[in-house]
Amino acid sequence: MSGNKPNSALVIGGGVAGITAALDIASQGFKVYLVERNPSIGGVMAQIDKTFPTLDCSACILTPKLSEVSRHKNIEILTYSEVGSVTGSVGDFHVRVKRKARYVNEDVCTGCGDCAEECPVEVANEFDLNIGFRKAIYVPFPQATPNVYTVDKENCIDCGRCVKACQRNAIDLDMKDTTLEFHVGAIIIATGFQLYDITDYPRLGYGHYANVIHAMEFERLINAAGPTHGHLIRLGDGKTPKSIGFIQCVGARDVQKGVPYCSRVCCMYSIKNAVMALEHNNDGEVWVYYADIRAFGKGFEEFYEMAKKRFGVKFIRGRVAEVMEGKKTGNLVIRVEDTETAEVRLIEHDLIVISPGVVPPIGMDTMAKKMGIEQSDDGYIQAEHTFFGPTETKTPGVFVCGCAEGPKDIPDSVSAGSAAAMKATIVLSQGGT
Ligand code: SF4
Ligand code: SF4
Repeated sequence: MSGNKPNSALVIGGGVAGITAALDIASQGFKVYLVERNPSIGGVMAQIDKTFPTLDCSACILTPKLSEVSRHKNIEILTYSEVGSVTGSVGDFHVRVKRKARYVNEDVCTGCGDCAEECPVEVANEFDLNIGFRKAIYVPFPQATPNVYTVDKENCIDCGRCVKACQRNAIDLDMKDTTLEFHVGAIIIATGFQLYDITDYPRLGYGHYANVIHAMEFERLINAAGPTHGHLIRLGDGKTPKSIGFIQCVGARDVQKGVPYCSRVCCMYSIKNAVMALEHNNDGEVWVYYADIRAFGKGFEEFYEMAKKRFGVKFIRGRVAEVMEGKKTGNLVIRVEDTETAEVRLIEHDLIVISPGVVPPIGMDTMAKKMGIEQSDDGYIQAEHTFFGPTETKTPGVFVCGCAEGPKDIPDSVSAGSAAAMKATIVLSQGGT
């Protein structure tokens, strides 16, 4: 405490923006409570295969940050936890955090995995977008932080085999939820985003045709640590797709359905995925169906040009009207008007990958209301000023970063995380005034 004011901050959300904010605040000597609702920090970046425009391995960049957070003496990681209530005001907020029972003692579990070996229950793995499987006692991914197992009680049959297998006696199948209370001087919201529900567009076939997937599913399929060990296959029949079509702006930039704004990341991650598909299968062909290509960041335009010239990715400007499935082949035929030639075309692919729009995460409205934080019309957290307060909210002492404020790529999320951390430490160093 500085005087009678708390010398600590709360960061809500353990994705790349929240992790950056937590590290920057903690490195200035303040305590940070980092609250994450999933069993591990890491966010969406942990699920991505490669990053654009450098094609760096996402896990290779993120993993050192995860271990830095876990080792930092000023950061208390509260995973599998949600903020229950926040009262008070700038300089002294009273926070209640609900810690869901993970049925494994975090201080004792070594992450050895003996329990999962014995567990007889296999369920779809949400980290792999339900393509692969995990046990009822699990870690979401190998570099999970903390490296502690969690029992999924909804699917657990209480057989007790994991309890017997655990030589550390870390498992308690009767564990209860608990509540943790503490005071902080500043709060950072870094709750990320979710993908638009593309089943709203039945004409594109997602959910009806097995060989129509979305971009995050594609990320897991090409990831060496994913459910197919990096082998790009069609989910319908396990065949390697030769011809792939990427459909842009589904649920984004659509005033009739979906959201009116641009999701900012889909053009570039699709170009990156198009390149990755050709790296996996260099005698294949890839087409991208787009409304505009928005390659606005540093190195993005050059990456786009490289995809066309070096890899031969084909781009067609036009909104896809319909995707039809060939019953015998499982192949997909796209009907699209090429707006550059005014020609209606029918093009056949083995696999279709849809780029869904980016929208605020589940629970954003509830959290904002609970904390009295203003939201923008599109549901994100409203920044105090577009130009001079992009990481401040209208509530003094509460800051925002990453996609909680609106769609952002990884570099912009990291910048916003650091900016929000700086604003929060100003509050903390001034004792909350
Ligand atoms: Fe190993 Fe026990 Fe932790 Fe399972 S719960 S990973 S067996 S220490
Ligand atoms: Fe798996 Fe539950 Fe049995 Fe443990 S008690 S082995 S988690 S099914």
